[in-house]
Amino acid sequence: MNIHEYQAKTLLAKFGVAVPKGGVAYTPDEAVEAAKKLPGPVYVVKSQIHAGGRGAGRFKSDPNGKGGVRVVKSLDDVKAQAAAMLGKVLVTKQTGEAGREVKRLYIEEGCDIKRELYLSLLVDRGSSRVVIMASTEGGMDIEEVAEKHPEKIVKIAIDPVAGFQDHHGRRIAFALGLQGKQVNAAVGFLKSLYRAFIELDASIVEVNPLVVTGDGQLIALDAKMNFDDNALFRHKDVEEMRDEAEEDPSELEATKHALNYIKLDGNIGCMVNGAGLAMATMDIIKLYGGTPANFLDVGGGATKERVTKAFKIILSDPNVEGILVNIFGGIMRCDVIAEGVVAAAREVSLHVPLVVRLEGTNVDLGKKIMKESGLPIMSADNLADAAEKIVKAVKEAK
Ligand code: ADP
Ligand code: MG
Repeated sequence: MNIHEYQAKTLLAKFGVAVPKGGVAYTPDEAVEAAKKLPGPVYVVKSQIHAGGRGAGRFKSDPNGKGGVRVVKSLDDVKAQAAAMLGKVLVTKQTGEAGREVKRLYIEEGCDIKRELYLSLLVDRGSSRVVIMASTEGGMDIEEVAEKHPEKIVKIAIDPVAGFQDHHGRRIAFALGLQGKQVNAAVGFLKSLYRAFIELDASIVEVNPLVVTGDGQLIALDAKMNFDDNALFRHKDVEEMRDEAEEDPSELEATKHALNYIKLDGNIGCMVNGAGLAMATMDIIKLYGGTPANFLDVGGGATKERVTKAFKIILSDPNVEGILVNIFGGIMRCDVIAEGVVAAAREVSLHVPLVVRLEGTNVDLGKKIMKESGLPIMSADNLADAAEKIVKAVKEAK
């Protein structure tokens, strides 16, 4: 799960991470009220969307205008800029063409920036550890730094048993070119950040930029946090920060029906039971030259209703040009799946090729149900056959 910048800053502040003062606003008037609580005279009006690159982003309605992060010098201008951003669609490098509508703003005190650094913590699958990444090249475009100057990014993996140690902090501080009192400040900052990461079951904490202010303080000027969904049950306060308007509607719908669905960029929809089989199905689609449109695990106890729901979710994606159903009937009987597939195909008046591969309990009955339905369902005998058939069918349908 993702949260907004202002929410991440609220959480991090509780762990002792230094952040600027600010307040959230949903209307221009609320923006002025939030600004009045700040020292001034410099305020920053920041679009709150679940995507980075806001500063360098542009509004669809005003592509030559200013970005989604604006520095202003009066309360009147806070109001004017808030009005100019709220309700408008912001397009950034991370939103894609479609952009995101700005529904909330964060009004923050202006910060006297001397240096912009990069800092993040994430779960690194390679080392199975939490890794701290830092770079002197903070600010807007860390992706470019990673691509063109990977040597400018320092990484330190933290032993999960020993946890964060001061020497990790000092190494990062020196790599960031910090000196004197700032070294210890950085150690403290990182310690707080690491504690927040572990205690909140985060999967990413990114501070970009981490700034050194004119008077030498270290402050998190931006904050992004991502959480492990499987641990959310023990963080009700974090779960309450969920902003459904920012989530993919089909993924949200899937969550409500306990379907594990993740939308991807391809054109072949997949409906599979079991995460491992789902991964294998995606791999084999790729092997035969296709690209999966989603990951979808309908689970072990999928009912007819859930299969229908899953079908609808797959088809709500306009990129889907074919569907591959791959079900192993172990706990689940193949005839039940077949009935679900037939019912769903009828209900949604299926308009794309459908290949179904069933195996397991009652497989013959399942195949018979599909055959007798009179629907143009292509049956496959094994995984390779299924993948080959759907890739071919999608190509031919074009
Ligand atoms: P994004 O990463 O989405 O572009 P940031 O919060 O990092 O958004 O803001 C972009 C840039 O705007 C920062 O790199 C910084 O230069 C400037 N900025 C952000 N917040 C403030 C602030 N409170 N005071 C001064 N400048 C700011
Ligand atoms: Mg940023």
